[in-house]
Amino acid sequence: MSTTKLKPEPPDIPTGNHGSLRSQNLTSILSLIYRDRPISRVELSRITGLNKATVSSLVAELVERGFVKFIGENPTERAGRREVMIDIDPLKASAVSVEIGIGTITVTASDFAGDAFLRMDAGFDPTMSAGRVISMASKMVSKAVLQAETENGRVAGISFAVPGAVDFQTGTVLFAPNLAWRNVSIFDRLKGKIDRPVFIDNEASLAALGEHFFGAAKGFRDMLYISAGVGIGGGLIINGDIYRGSSGIAGEFGHMTVDVKGKKCTCGKTGCWETLANAAALFSEYLRLAPAARKGSAEKTIAQMLEHVGLSARSGEKHALQALESTAHSLAVGIDSLIKAFDPERVVLGGPLSSLSEFLVPMIAHELRQRPIFGLKHAADIITASFGADAALKGGTALVIRRFLRKAAGSQTS
Ligand SMILES: [Zn+2]
Repeated sequence: MSTTKLKPEPPDIPTGNHGSLRSQNLTSILSLIYRDRPISRVELSRITGLNKATVSSLVAELVERGFVKFIGENPTERAGRREVMIDIDPLKASAVSVEIGIGTITVTASDFAGDAFLRMDAGFDPTMSAGRVISMASKMVSKAVLQAETENGRVAGISFAVPGAVDFQTGTVLFAPNLAWRNVSIFDRLKGKIDRPVFIDNEASLAALGEHFFGAAKGFRDMLYISAGVGIGGGLIINGDIYRGSSGIAGEFGHMTVDVKGKKCTCGKTGCWETLANAAALFSEYLRLAPAARKGSAEKTIAQMLEHVGLSARSGEKHALQALESTAHSLAVGIDSLIKAFDPERVVLGGPLSSLSEFLVPMIAHELRQRPIFGLKHAADIITASFGADAALKGGTALVIRRFLRKAAGSQTS
């Protein structure tokens, strides 16, 4: 990734206003090591503007406290000017990340650098009660914690990603339509079962955080994550942190009205963005243009629809490319509005439709360039997500690590 757009300051792990200058500098150095690992002290000094003696003293403290370690010399430097490189120490702590999907539970345990070393998957009937699902997840978490602490460092926290609106402070799933959960307090149900800090967040917000902390938008303070597939969801990172809104529904971009006379949406409104830009709409546009492909199409899953269009487009079939142009246009209409609202530095496209991003991303980028406002070009570029279906799990890992770092750095904000 190009580093030309990266801003050296402030760091992407938010610091509190109350922390001392030294603790802010420690956080800043750590976040840079996460972003650019491995990195030398000379480079840290260059990026932060702090003098070399200060950087050396901060790094020495981080090494002593076990956050980072020296990993040898940078082989690309010329002999005589070799710099010892610094990297995150993976053994410092572990993070457990849980994703409750529609009928699936996935649990990962990752080291302090964010690399998963353990993964468990389980299925459940989506009509099962919330209590039973959480109890299943809790048993998987207990196993993961035990194993993580045998293999790696102490578990610093456990993050739950859920497909719905969440009250982050109280740990409550306000509404998860596909699971029919309403006002389910995960904190209450886990009380006495898990002896580690627990966080609950919306899966798309966590996916945004995963891309922000470890992936396609690493180092960008303000980014927009769009997940397009069956519908459209997403997340916003503003000033380096998840923007959750006042009632937990920020990021429900798919239900912005883009056509006041449009189709009925599952939410009850008409003309929502996701009624125009989704995998099924792409496929039906393709079938409209290429009726010969209709045979056997009714039984296709979303993945098969996307695969079919992808194969056809890669072979240069014009109807597939036209259908992709149409979906890219619909996606660009909504993304353009979001850019006008939030002016992010980067837009990341994830979700099942991103499997066609080799076509969609340049098409959307082209559309966005045609839509300047007052003659001003916006800064945002659009790129494909790094983590695909695992973005929310990565985000959960990032959430736990960031919280741990903030606490360790003595910041008083939450
Ligand atoms: Zn809607």
